[in-house]
Amino acid sequence: MKTWIPDARNFAYLNWKQVDALPRESTLLVLPTAAIEQHGHHLPLATDTLINNLLLGHALAKLPANAPVYALPPVHYGKSNEHIGFPGTLSVSASTFMAVLRDLGASISNAGFKRVVLYNTHGGNTALIDVMARDLRAEFKLRTFALHGSAGAKFDGLTAQERAYGFHAGEVETAYLLASVPELVDRSAYTSNYIADVNKPELLAPEFAPATFAWLTRDIAASGVMGDPRPATAENGARWLDQAATKLAAALDAMLRFPLSPAS
Ligand SMILES: [Zn+2]
Repeated sequence: MKTWIPDARNFAYLNWKQVDALPRESTLLVLPTAAIEQHGHHLPLATDTLINNLLLGHALAKLPANAPVYALPPVHYGKSNEHIGFPGTLSVSASTFMAVLRDLGASISNAGFKRVVLYNTHGGNTALIDVMARDLRAEFKLRTFALHGSAGAKFDGLTAQERAYGFHAGEVETAYLLASVPELVDRSAYTSNYIADVNKPELLAPEFAPATFAWLTRDIAASGVMGDPRPATAENGARWLDQAATKLAAALDAMLRFPLSPAS
């Protein structure tokens, strides 16, 4: 898999003696979680994993050289059963996903490290990340953080409709890939579907509402796209990437400074 992680911050490029020399209390280890799943007719299966690596790599490059932050190899497979029925989707169950995170947390804790952040870029994993962040805190006393997607970047220029419901292979994801791996984007194969309409709010919404319905992609988007990739540009992708990386770097910096134990 392609990587944008600076070599000096790639945990798996260290040998064990170099790891042993890292300061245990202050070092922040970033565990990326993503997915290998269908992204419509125009984006590759690895889209969420590539975006994770792209954003994290640019965020790490913004940190001071002496900030002790390292990226662990990503958990490529996620809980993607919303995309079952599309060839190429490789999904693991919630229990498998959580077991992998739990075991990696055990290894991190056994090595004496105290700070870990779960950096997730696949929506199907979000609920499990929140569960595991608390469980790693409770079981191993790790100071565990959760970090999601573009860390609240604004995405100027998006329509309200795309902002609300362009969450899979839509304009943002397509723009990120156009800016970084345009050879993996098939611009002749764009399709568009929306799971709901911001101008016609219903009581039962697919996401972000007090009352929701559980959705499967095949129920609502035959091509696998939820959003509209057509307005995506490499220029917007590059600008949003820089904005997201700035937000992510600020979050990582705050995690580095966060107290290990409650103030007494
Ligand atoms: Zn995606």
